[in-house]
Amino acid sequence: MGLRARVVSLAVGTDPKLRRMLSYWAASTALYAVFAILISVESGVRELGLGLYAALGSSTFYLLVRASARLHLRPQTLAALQGLFGITCNMWAYSITGPLRGATLMGLMVVVVFCTFALRPRQTLLLALCGLLGMGVTMWWHQLRDPLHYPPRVEAITFAMMAGCSLTVTLLTGEMNKLRARLKAKRETLEAALDTIRLLATTDELTGLSNRRHMNEVLDGEERRASTRPACVALLDIDFFKQINDHHGHAAGDAVLRAVAVRLRASLARDATLARWGGEEFLVLLPAVALDEAQALIESLRATMAGLVVPGIDPDLRVSFSAGVAARLGTEPFSATINRADKALYGAKATGRNRVERAA
Ligand code: GH3
Ligand code: MG
Ligand code: MG
Repeated sequence: MGLRARVVSLAVGTDPKLRRMLSYWAASTALYAVFAILISVESGVRELGLGLYAALGSSTFYLLVRASARLHLRPQTLAALQGLFGITCNMWAYSITGPLRGATLMGLMVVVVFCTFALRPRQTLLLALCGLLGMGVTMWWHQLRDPLHYPPRVEAITFAMMAGCSLTVTLLTGEMNKLRARLKAKRETLEAALDTIRLLATTDELTGLSNRRHMNEVLDGEERRASTRPACVALLDIDFFKQINDHHGHAAGDAVLRAVAVRLRASLARDATLARWGGEEFLVLLPAVALDEAQALIESLRATMAGLVVPGIDPDLRVSFSAGVAARLGTEPFSATINRADKALYGAKATGRNRVERAA
């Protein structure tokens, strides 16, 4: 990691949620800075206290947000604390800005809107009420102490307007939040539905293996690869499967298919694709494998079938398969390779079953 990346990761971490919280923090800090500059332009350095208070609070919140995971601080708690801090800044700003004080009330709206991202509508409403209480007390105190500069009537009307706006903004942001939550729930439902569709489109329902459609996609992909790496396919067909169905029932036949699928999948490497190609036929794609190796591999699979016990079915039932293995010749389409594997499989059936034959 470069120095710059290390500094950035130290400052804002790597978790996207933390980074989002810190970006809200940065936006609110920028707002504090703008307010502080404008207020000091208006009232001079006399009122440096508020600037220092805001800077100290802002730095503390940066540290709290940055360490929130370690301190187990929830986003709600952080947002509520920052909201309350913002309200106290607003009370202070209102007290020192003289005729400009009405403009500082806009800060209260910003506090509500900021907190709506992390708080529930009811919590936001509570915070807005805290804001109104804080500003109400500030206004009331000033008009009582200095009615000449804070005429009671003007203060009362200003308070009423601020209360109306603040509550309206709170309700609107609450509605927006509900809409957002509904949209999020819908998106999650859609994503889950898409996952199901994707699974159904690529998976064989009975065995959980890739289905024929998916196998064809994998073969297409392998054909499109620029390199002409070797590949083999093997076509496996369970022997006398019809008899299993006839003697033990269709459900038992299904159980055999599942057990064979599990055994085959467990015995194959991760990069091999195994698909249910048809009724009791399976197709294996072995990329980057030469014919000798492929034949040996399928032969070992065939041998493991002798010990296959299918749960819930006559333990004496023996399952075997016959197979045809073929290597892809050059860049031929896999359909041609599979045809040759099919012919080899036919040969294995014709010469007694429970055998693996390789294509010429
Ligand atoms: P061979 O050794 O020559 O392959 O004989 P076989 O009996 O295995 O082959 P055949 O093609 O005569 O019979 C295949 C049977 O597989 C017929 C069909 O009813 C059965 N089958 C196909 N799909 C399923 C399935 O999903 N479940 C069950 N239980 N049977 C299936
Ligand atoms: Mg068959
Ligand atoms: Mg068969």
